[in-house]
Amino acid sequence: MKQKFLKIRAHHGMCLHFFEGKGYNDEFTGHMQKIYEKMQENPEIELVVQGDEICKKCPNLENGICKTQELVLGYDKEVLKKCGLVKDMKISWKDFSKLVEERIIFSGERQNICGNCQWSSICEKKVEESLLETKKNCDTL
Ligand code: SF4
Repeated sequence: MKQKFLKIRAHHGMCLHFFEGKGYNDEFTGHMQKIYEKMQENPEIELVVQGDEICKKCPNLENGICKTQELVLGYDKEVLKKCGLVKDMKISWKDFSKLVEERIIFSGERQNICGNCQWSSICEKKVEESLLETKKNCDTL
C-alpha cells in the first residue's frame, strides 16, 4: 500500500516549533493544535512549497493559494536551503525539526528568514527566553 505523507510547507517547521495556541481564528488555531499534536507521533512528511495540511483551515488560503504567497514562498525556499533539503522531499518530522532547530533557530538565522512575519515577535521572545534559560543552567553548573 502506498504510504501517505503529511504535506507540510517548509517554513511551517518554524511555525510549529514556536506554536503556543495562537492563530488567525479559532478554527485555524484548533486545527494547528491538532497538527502540532500529530507531530509528536513523528510522522513521515513531504516538504512542500504550496498550500499544506496547516493551510487547509487558514482564512488566508484562497483557491488553494496563500494570500501572501510571495512572502511565504520566500520563507519556504530559505528554510529548505538552510537545512540542505529540497522541495517534495520526504523526511521524518523529527529529522526535519532537528535541522530547523540547529541550522535556523539556535544558529540565530530565524530573523533573517521570517523577521518580517506578523508573528515574529512571539518567536523572538521564545528564543530569548530559551537562551536565558540555557545561560541560567550553565551559570549554576
Ligand atoms: S498564512 Fe498562508 S502559508 Fe500561512 S497557514 Fe495561512 S495559507 Fe498557509
